[in-house]
Amino acid sequence: MPDTTKPRLRCPLCEGERFDREDGRLSIRNGSTDQRAVLLICRRCKPILPFLNRQSFFDDGTG
Ligand SMILES: [Zn+2]
Repeated sequence: MPDTTKPRLRCPLCEGERFDREDGRLSIRNGSTDQRAVLLICRRCKPILPFLNRQSFFDDGTG
């Protein structure tokens, strides 16, 4: 029986569970398409995240 409960998002750094949502916009060069993306930023790590230099912090896909 599969577990239907959603895994709670947890910050891999501080294991915090509180996040701020920030709307971002991705512009594609080879087209005129603007895609909106929602970023979840850990409230605790927010001040230091820019220094980690990681692109996809929360990656849903595999790889
Ligand atoms: Zn954190």
